[in-house]
Amino acid sequence: MQVPLLDLKAQYQTIKEECLQVTKEIYESQYFILGPYVEALEKEIARYCSTKYAVGVSSGTDALLLSLMAAKIGYGDRVITTPYTFFATAGVVSRMGAIPVFVDIEPDTYNISPARLEAVIQAMPDAIRKTVKAIIPVHLYGQCADMDAVAEIARKNNLVVIEDAAQAIGSEYKGRRAGSMGNFGCFSFFPSKNLGGFGDGGIITTNSETDYENLKILRVHGGHPKYYHSQIGGNFRLDALQAAIVSIKLKYLDQWTKARQKNAKMYKALFEEAGLSHAVTVPFEKENRHIYNQFVISVVEGRDSLKEFLIANHVGCEIYYPVPLHLQECFADLEYSPGDFPVAEHAAEHTLALPVYPELSEDQIRYGVDQIREFFR
Ligand SMILES: *Cc1c(COP(=O)(O)O)cnc(C)c1O
Repeated sequence: MQVPLLDLKAQYQTIKEECLQVTKEIYESQYFILGPYVEALEKEIARYCSTKYAVGVSSGTDALLLSLMAAKIGYGDRVITTPYTFFATAGVVSRMGAIPVFVDIEPDTYNISPARLEAVIQAMPDAIRKTVKAIIPVHLYGQCADMDAVAEIARKNNLVVIEDAAQAIGSEYKGRRAGSMGNFGCFSFFPSKNLGGFGDGGIITTNSETDYENLKILRVHGGHPKYYHSQIGGNFRLDALQAAIVSIKLKYLDQWTKARQKNAKMYKALFEEAGLSHAVTVPFEKENRHIYNQFVISVVEGRDSLKEFLIANHVGCEIYYPVPLHLQECFADLEYSPGDFPVAEHAAEHTLALPVYPELSEDQIRYGVDQIREFFR
C-alpha cells in the first residue's frame, strides 16, 4: 500500500471543475494582480477568522514581514519568538534589521512557553528590555499557543503581537479563532498547508483600521497615492488566480478539517490499541479546536531509523524541524548554544509527522500504524 505524506491530486479531483471555470474567467479578463477576486477572498477570510479586515499578500513569509514593517520594527529592535518553528518566523525579524530573541516551548504542545517567556523578559537588563518591541507566537501544527498568557505579558511590556498562524487557519483558543487575538494574524496559502493555493500566497488579518489601511499601502511599495512615497514598502501583492482558488477551497475547509480531526482520532485509537504508548507519544490536544495541519508524534527512541523504515515501506513522513532555529548557522551571531532550549532541542530530535490529510483512508491509517508496530517489534 502507498501512504503519501500528502495527496493534493486527490483533493484537486473534487474541485477540478470549479477551478477550471474560475481560471478560464481570469484568463479571459486578463486581470491578474489584486482586484475583485482578492477583495472577495479578503472579506471571506476576515469573516472566517472573526476579524474586521484581511489583506491578501504574496506568501506567509511576506505576511510576517509586512506585519513587522507595519509595526515599524527596525534596526536594533528585538522580537521574541520560538526556536521550534519554520525558518520564516525568525528569518523575517533579521531581514528587518531586528534581533530575534528565542524562548523555549512547552513539551506537550510545542508552542511558546508563557513561563519561559516571562522568565526571559525578567532576566533582561532594563536597556535590553526596552528594545523588545514585538512577539510572534506560532500556532504550531494547527494548535493555538496559550494566547491569554501571551497577551497578558505583551500588554505588560507594551509588545505588538503578531500571530504566526501559517499552520492554523480555523484553529481556536477558548472559542477565538487563530489570527483574531493579536495585532496581526499571518496565514500562508502554500500548497501543502491545510488551505493552500496553486502557488505562493498569504494573508494578514487585523482588527485595526489604521493597520489595515497601512498594510494595503505597504503592499504596493508604500505608494499613497500611487507614485508618492511617504514610506518604503515592497511588492507584496496577491494574484487573482491564487485568491480565486483559495476562495473555492475555503468553502470546503470545515469539511476537510473534520476529516483531519477524524484521522487524528483514529491514529490515537490505533496507537493505543497497538500498545505503543511506551514508544510513541501522540499529539496532546490542549486547545479545542486543533485543526491538525500536521499530526506529529514524538518517538522515544529510534526516530531516524523509524523514518527510514516507514519511507522504505511507502509511508510518507517528515521531520518538522530537524534543526531548532537558535542552532542554525545563519544565526550564529546571536550566540546561542546547544542546551539553551532543551525542550525545542528534544522536539527536533524526537518528532515525526505522519500523513493526516483529509482524503486519507482508514486502511491507509491502519497500514501506517501497523508499519510502526512492525518497526518496534
Ligand atoms: C509555511 C509557514 C510559513 C511561511 O509561509 P510561506 O507561505 O511558505 O511563505 C511561516 N511560518 C510557519 C509556521 C509556516 O509553517
